[in-house]
Amino acid sequence: MNQEESEAKRIPYRPELAQALAMSLDEASLDALLVTSDANQRFLEGYTGAECYLLASGPGSWLVADSRYTEQARGECGRARIVQHRDPCPPYDEVIAGLAAEAGFRRVGFEKARLSYAQYEALRAQAEGRGIELVPTEGIVERLRAVKTADEISLIRRACEIADRALEASLGELREGISELEFARLLEASMFAAGAEGPGFDTIAAFGARPALPHAVPRTDSRLEKGDFVLLDFGALVGGYHSDITRTLVFGKASAEQRKVYAAVLESQALGVEAMVAGASGKAPDAVARGSIAASGYPEFGYGVGHGVGLEIHELPFMSRRCAETLAPGMAITCEPGIYLPGWGGVRIEDTVLIREGGPERLTRFPKGALLEL
Ligand code: ZN
Ligand code: ZN
Repeated sequence: MNQEESEAKRIPYRPELAQALAMSLDEASLDALLVTSDANQRFLEGYTGAECYLLASGPGSWLVADSRYTEQARGECGRARIVQHRDPCPPYDEVIAGLAAEAGFRRVGFEKARLSYAQYEALRAQAEGRGIELVPTEGIVERLRAVKTADEISLIRRACEIADRALEASLGELREGISELEFARLLEASMFAAGAEGPGFDTIAAFGARPALPHAVPRTDSRLEKGDFVLLDFGALVGGYHSDITRTLVFGKASAEQRKVYAAVLESQALGVEAMVAGASGKAPDAVARGSIAASGYPEFGYGVGHGVGLEIHELPFMSRRCAETLAPGMAITCEPGIYLPGWGGVRIEDTVLIREGGPERLTRFPKGALLEL
């Protein structure tokens, strides 16, 4: 699949989302929501640009864009009216408050994790002057995104296939002396060649003892040597949707300790995935995977065992000790336990998994049953 084909797979505007959003706003006693997350704007309106403000309500929506984005927004937005801000028009804060006042809104929510303090201050000054209350909200649109449609699942599935294929195509490039950064770029080029729009997030490639850092940033001065662990955590982007996979292997012959740690993580991950059943609490897979690592005598990983993937690489639900969500069919979630031993190395195994009525389905399928020695 080439670039144009993956563009054509973009999900169009879905009118039913206006209804779902209206119900969520009703529950929160809001007249409208100011959506500043790019992913949430894309989800609600089909708009793929950035740096815009979407004032969304049951009866109507407005996308407030500066001149760099107005043309694109007119072509992409499914429902919102496009309103320009910034020179020669008034600034966004004035435009948004003006639109809200004109529509008769009294309580307007904003996404508190997605608005800067400076933006909030400017908006509040304008809103107060018009008798409008700004209400902090969290996760209103994100909750609507957690369960994927068939179209969304097919894009995530495709992004997973591309990641699998890219790994297979690039492993032959692992040779003594190659740097982490060089290999990360090769892996990304393979994803692009396989039809991805690009990498879904910053690729992690860590050699030797560096996989002990769960999110190691690839370096040019870390070069592959015989007997090194190789940890690769990466994913592809297709139609705006992500995949996420981690594999750990050994370059050369593995030591007994490397095999032992790998086996412990493999067991933990298998149990974690098995626990990803529809109707279960999002706490359950985390508890099971964590308990398995603890039973092996190695230290527990210091993060929740999995996260949703979709328009963002990390999104609801977050499977952890504090997870409030129940797993439901159509959720795409990772399972990624690991063991990290500073100064020695680490192992993480991660798959993107689809929750289904009949049980979990692994969407990333690159083999992991035995510690790969290259
Ligand atoms: Zn990952
Ligand atoms: Zn992940």
